[in-house]
Amino acid sequence: MNEIHLICNPTSGKGKTLTTLDRIKEWLNANPKLNVQIHLTENVGHATSLARDLTKGDNKVTLLVLGGDGTVNEVLNGIVNFKTTHLGILPFGSGNDFVRALKIINPDPIDLMKAYLSNPKVMNVDYLLLNDKYRAINEIGLGMSAEVINYRNKMKHFSPETQYKIASTVRALFWKSFTYNLSIDKNPSSKINSMWFTMNNGIAVGSGMVTAPDAKIDDGLISVSFVKKFNRLKTLSLLMKCKKGKMAYMKETGRFTCKEIDIDTDIDTVVEFDGNLLEHQKHINVKIVPQELKLLVVEK
Ligand SMILES: [Mg+2]
Repeated sequence: MNEIHLICNPTSGKGKTLTTLDRIKEWLNANPKLNVQIHLTENVGHATSLARDLTKGDNKVTLLVLGGDGTVNEVLNGIVNFKTTHLGILPFGSGNDFVRALKIINPDPIDLMKAYLSNPKVMNVDYLLLNDKYRAINEIGLGMSAEVINYRNKMKHFSPETQYKIASTVRALFWKSFTYNLSIDKNPSSKINSMWFTMNNGIAVGSGMVTAPDAKIDDGLISVSFVKKFNRLKTLSLLMKCKKGKMAYMKETGRFTCKEIDIDTDIDTVVEFDGNLLEHQKHINVKIVPQELKLLVVEK
């Protein structure tokens, strides 16, 4: 018996989610055989506890998530039994960066839901594991990339994309670079001096900034990209190139892939994962968990 649950974050998508949920309910009323149970999240962390409760048994469970990357992250962090759980993302948040890797941009959540339920196609995808504790579906960032999220979270106006551009520009103008000691796949490697350091599963961060254009979500590899020290006057041009997916090819940037990375810093640093912040970190370990997540996708 396959249980179907819809987890909805009513605060995502600038509060428009409830209107969409009403349309979903209308469609479900017309299709009562589907028997979808709807859960509204009430606070931060609620989606994690819901997912934990719903996936701890042996029943086959489909979790549909109506919300942004943050809600998807919460659900991912709650999944107990990956073998019996299918996750379907109905993107309705401010960023929706992860689904860009699936080439889903501005879809109608109802069309997606119909596709997931009428003709389910499953893709086994990777996720990132931070410090053996926190799961991230899209990306983990350090230094300025984490501070940009911190700064953006304090903004109330503008579109998410504009918020990210403003936050990136302001932080880049006043941010300094940090030295990171890297160990890549357990091989002690080099020191790098970087202003911006991201470890991607998906291709984009910050509402469409493409930092890892070649990243694949099922190749068992972390796509690392970083910005070295650069002339601050080039900040805007860097961001424009990032938007077009060309930042990864600039001489100020570097990139590589790996399965695991350890990063040591001399000073406390902020780590960001799928938009969540973890402060006061000096040692960061990120590893890929290959193809553990059963993700519902739309057949092209
Ligand atoms: Mg990958």
